[in-house]
Amino acid sequence: MMTLPKYRSRYLPAMTQGQIAAIADKESVPVIIPTGAIEQHGPHLPVGVDSILGQAYLGAALPLVPDDVPVLVAPPITIGKSDEHRGFPGTLFVSTKTLGRLLTSIASQLHGWGFRTIAILNTHGGNISVLRYTMRQIQVELGMRTVFLTSKYKPALSLQEETFGFHANEWETSIMLEVTEGMVDLSQAGCEYPARLGETGILRPEGAPATYTWVTGDLSKTGIVGDAAAATAEKGKEWFQNYTQSLAEEITKLSAWAKDQAGK
Ligand SMILES: [Zn+2]
Repeated sequence: MMTLPKYRSRYLPAMTQGQIAAIADKESVPVIIPTGAIEQHGPHLPVGVDSILGQAYLGAALPLVPDDVPVLVAPPITIGKSDEHRGFPGTLFVSTKTLGRLLTSIASQLHGWGFRTIAILNTHGGNISVLRYTMRQIQVELGMRTVFLTSKYKPALSLQEETFGFHANEWETSIMLEVTEGMVDLSQAGCEYPARLGETGILRPEGAPATYTWVTGDLSKTGIVGDAAAATAEKGKEWFQNYTQSLAEEITKLSAWAKDQAGK
């Protein structure tokens, strides 16, 4: 039997054309578009982490959203803008332009079907700058409302990890332990930071008065940027539950907001 997401009743590709045509008040129903990436995640995690996490978050959050709250989900964009990870095996990316055009193209067709609000659930930092300007363009050119959908939950990380743990880090490793089975090799989960709190110098890749552009190879030998060794299954369980609970609340708010916007 084929596996479809747990949120199948809200998943557009699982519907017939007739069911899609019959969706009431499309202008007030937001459509979530997950955006992820396929890129190296250190020696201990699979390259699909960012795309896997988007699906795991939705799979847990959407069942917590009341059935009478209208919200739908588009198929995910699983290949993102990951040129910062080039040179590591297993990184598969598209250009800034391709990602922008793909999102614009999806948005314009959803607009053609009658939808007016899209919400991006993005799980890859490298996509953010492209998404931001593309979403503005979609608003200006298509008259759609675009939203970054984010959980408000913040885990209690050390300040060092919060500032310099960007990738294949304590968070991603812990969550992967919770949502997958046999996909995390903890024996390979190391710790690499591009800078330490309290070090002198004002020029750093992030978290400094002056920052420089970087590719992962500048910051890390293993591909880990952060403390993957601090990850545990217990943290993953607690964080995932809190994160998706908050995400469900944000989805519910998003739906109310879209309805409100449609009434204006
Ligand atoms: Zn990641």
